[in-house]
Amino acid sequence: MLALRKTRPEAGTELVEVPVPQTLEEGEVLVRVAAAGICGSDLHVDDWTASYAFIAPYLPVTLGHEFVGTIASGPRAGQRVVVRPSVTCGRCAHCQAQNFDACEQRRGIGMTRDGAFATWVRAPLRNCIPVPAGVSDTLASLVEPFSIAMQAVRQAGDLSGRTVLVMGPGTIGQAIAVLARRLGAARIVVTGFQDAVRLDTLRAMGFDDLVDVSQTPLTQWLTTRADLPPFDLVFEATGVPATITEALGLLRRDGVVVVTGIHDRPLSLDLTPFVRRQLQLRGSFRPPESDWPRVLDLMGELGEAIRPMVSHVLPLARAHEGFALAHGKQANKVLLVPEEHDGR
Ligand SMILES: [Zn+2]
Ligand SMILES: [Zn+2]
Repeated sequence: MLALRKTRPEAGTELVEVPVPQTLEEGEVLVRVAAAGICGSDLHVDDWTASYAFIAPYLPVTLGHEFVGTIASGPRAGQRVVVRPSVTCGRCAHCQAQNFDACEQRRGIGMTRDGAFATWVRAPLRNCIPVPAGVSDTLASLVEPFSIAMQAVRQAGDLSGRTVLVMGPGTIGQAIAVLARRLGAARIVVTGFQDAVRLDTLRAMGFDDLVDVSQTPLTQWLTTRADLPPFDLVFEATGVPATITEALGLLRRDGVVVVTGIHDRPLSLDLTPFVRRQLQLRGSFRPPESDWPRVLDLMGELGEAIRPMVSHVLPLARAHEGFALAHGKQANKVLLVPEEHDGR
């Protein structure tokens, strides 16, 4: 079968023929992939940025961790599922105590074990979450970024009536904006940098306060919005450390910045205003496992309202074109669909 793999610890990915997985470990099933999304982290792996060097010992590895497919083996064969990419070890004290959310010995499907830019992928059955009938494959493929966004809004606390800034209009930032609106935020501003396509996606989903800071610096834009109170909350979804400094300067006293980006450089921060204005910086990473079925139900409710987020559906053979579109910010979410013949 065709697979998009990271083969060497340097920039680039390769489309190669690999065997269909033959042996399954205990508790695993084979999943036939219907569609898999290209994520910002896949672009980092492609670029080989420092924050993803941790996958070097696991190469070669098939990428792809945001996916939907059908179970092809075991007691739940035939079931349409999304797969949580974070695979717990099953052996540590936390796993033994069934506290899987606390496992520290994880492997990531599509990062440190083979992923879904291929026709077949093996996955632990307990990672497979049934997709409700009303949720299309296209929408279901967005569940992972929405689960990350769900965790970010949870870390933020109460959003109702809040004035919110989302920095970074990628899929995570878009999902945060959608959830913040649903949770009653009063105003939501989203910023991007040379991000016409992704800001247009937000416009198509009914957001108006959109700023491309490559054209209008945010501080300048804010002077044209005198009615806008200082931000209660800022969500950082850029991965650019300097945006944190900027975000802190835009908060009201006691305001909160929730950081979701993976940063490949440290942040230098002047702590005195941070202390005097009692600001808070909160990290947000992985949602609890129990969120996944809830997020899928939510996606069923959001339905066509979030359909603009998927801009391209390409065959896996055109993966490099998909990566180039995503890299060049010429696409919103790009889905790759594996080849039809199943390779088995
Ligand atoms: Zn992802
Ligand atoms: Zn464990």
